[in-house]
Amino acid sequence: MESSTIGSLAKYGFSDSYMLDHLPVAVCVLNQVGEIQEANREFLQITDIPSVELPGLSILAYVDEAEQDRILTEINQECISTSDQLKIRIQFRLTYNSLSSVLLRIRLLTPESELKYYLCTLEKTDDIIPDLEKWEKKRIKEQLIESEARFRSIAEAITPRIFHLDLDGIITYANRPNGRLIKGDFIGTSIYQFLGNETNTKKLKSAISACIAKRQAMSFQANHQFEDPDVGMRYYLIQLSPVVANDAVTGFAMIRTDITSIKTVQQELEKANAKLSSIVSGIDATGIGVFEWDIAGGDKVIWDGNTHNIFGVARGEFDGTKKGFEKMIYPEDSESVTLEIDFAAKHLQQQNTSHRIIRADTGEVRWVSTRRIITRNEEGIPISMTGVLWDITDEKEKEELKLQAALLTNQNRELKEFTYIASHDLQSPLRTLSNYVELLEEDNDSHLGEDAKWYLSVIKSSTVRMKDLIQDLLTYSRIGRQRDKVEVNLQVILEGVINDLNLEITNSGARIEVGALPTLSLYETEIRLLFQNLLSNSIKYRKPDATPIILVEAKDDQNSWSITIRDNGIGIESQYFEKIFMVFQRLHDQTEFEGNGIGLAHCRKIVQLHGGTISVDSEVGVGSVFSIKLPK
Ligand code: ADP
Repeated sequence: MESSTIGSLAKYGFSDSYMLDHLPVAVCVLNQVGEIQEANREFLQITDIPSVELPGLSILAYVDEAEQDRILTEINQECISTSDQLKIRIQFRLTYNSLSSVLLRIRLLTPESELKYYLCTLEKTDDIIPDLEKWEKKRIKEQLIESEARFRSIAEAITPRIFHLDLDGIITYANRPNGRLIKGDFIGTSIYQFLGNETNTKKLKSAISACIAKRQAMSFQANHQFEDPDVGMRYYLIQLSPVVANDAVTGFAMIRTDITSIKTVQQELEKANAKLSSIVSGIDATGIGVFEWDIAGGDKVIWDGNTHNIFGVARGEFDGTKKGFEKMIYPEDSESVTLEIDFAAKHLQQQNTSHRIIRADTGEVRWVSTRRIITRNEEGIPISMTGVLWDITDEKEKEELKLQAALLTNQNRELKEFTYIASHDLQSPLRTLSNYVELLEEDNDSHLGEDAKWYLSVIKSSTVRMKDLIQDLLTYSRIGRQRDKVEVNLQVILEGVINDLNLEITNSGARIEVGALPTLSLYETEIRLLFQNLLSNSIKYRKPDATPIILVEAKDDQNSWSITIRDNGIGIESQYFEKIFMVFQRLHDQTEFEGNGIGLAHCRKIVQLHGGTISVDSEVGVGSVFSIKLPK
């Protein structure tokens, strides 16, 4: 040993080893590998180590083998300076190998030197075990206090109410959420006093029974109507957990969470849902279709029932793709609809438009009106396009009819003006012309040469023809003036017409066959003119080498009557099927077939007057079929 704290007593005649030997404490000096360098008398006495065995004896030989390395490492690491004291409590093998609890206090003696020596005291602690127990109990109690304080601070920092109930429902603990003081004294009173109503009490009782029986947490909802109108009705979630000690339920932890705001939102949501479903069923009844195109989700298209109905597709048969929808657009509208949708997806928030579709079931062309709404994400990229659509075919047709009616009114007005001009302005110069021709003939008959006479006769016949033309025009303009419809038997009308055409029929040898014809409400004069024109045309445009055979038939088409006049005449080229119905449109000149080209224009006007249509189908050299459709 290089120095000693008690070395200064040497001047009183006490040597270091003397004092060491007389210390009432067991002391030894260890080197850094744990070998005992020196030991005093007390040490040898307590450990019962014979002094002869001391040199080189390691203190570690007296402790459990498994502990040896740890102790040595601790000594070398913990005792860095003379002020660091290491306490080690271990089992020490003493006399006759019996174990004894000892407390080693170890401290570094040589901080300056490379060679480390430690001063070690040894104390038997077997006899202080009772104290240890006391100390341990104190430590456990302290830990309990600390953990309870921790629990309280947590319990009081959170909003839900936490109670501990004993088996009878008596409150033994209640937290003070957010530091709020509890009104009255909860502790020691029954929880049932605070439940507000019978239902809550029943629920708690059954939860408690279940908790005990199943040994698991139970929960239920409760509500409480407070007298204070500011508080009103509150809703709670009650969670109850059994507290188990020594395998028996000793009480319950009860957590009460105020869920009024959640409940209110839930109620609002239910109301909104009810409203929405009534709107949806309202929409169902209107026949308006609802659809969604999920742009972000890979072009998926969802249709509701009404949309299926509008497109004439059975539920489950639509393939749910944008392509599937595009296939059903009327071909002429297809390109513009695709462009429109792409444009809306890129640039618009809303789009209103209409287009035609082809119904899958009937193949019918229908008009639909659509309103599209585009939803975008924060970057403005379209996510979905939702919309509504409805069938507007009836409105479109009405609109079309209105347009046609307006056009017709306009045309009629123009025609009336024209008729006026024809009857007044044209007729009088024509009259003057024929008067002067007559005068010229009468006064100069003897002076006129043969050529002049022939010229005059051409002028005369032309003026007569011109008079006829003007007369025809007047007749045309007068169609529809008779405003009252009457019940007309078409069979009777046909008989009258055939009678009037007796001469032509006889001359041509024509055979006219009339099927069963209905009685309809019609403008009689006009309808007579219609059949007269058609029958006389069929006789007139006969093939020179064949007997004209004319067949008149009627067919009931549910909403209309279909009447056909079929002949075996010269026929008409298909390119003229429309043209022949226009005023003064003829396919032949006067030398071939006489006529003014106004007969079929009359026919069309008469049929339109009855709200119907007339068309022709024909094959050159075979014959023609004129079809009239009259609404019922
Ligand atoms: P028009 O008989 O005075 O020429 P229409 O208006 O009655 O005038 O007929 C127009 C044209 O339609 C006729 O010039 C004729 O070429 C053609 N046409 C009408 N009816 C028939 C028919 N039954 N068969 C063949 N051609 C017809």
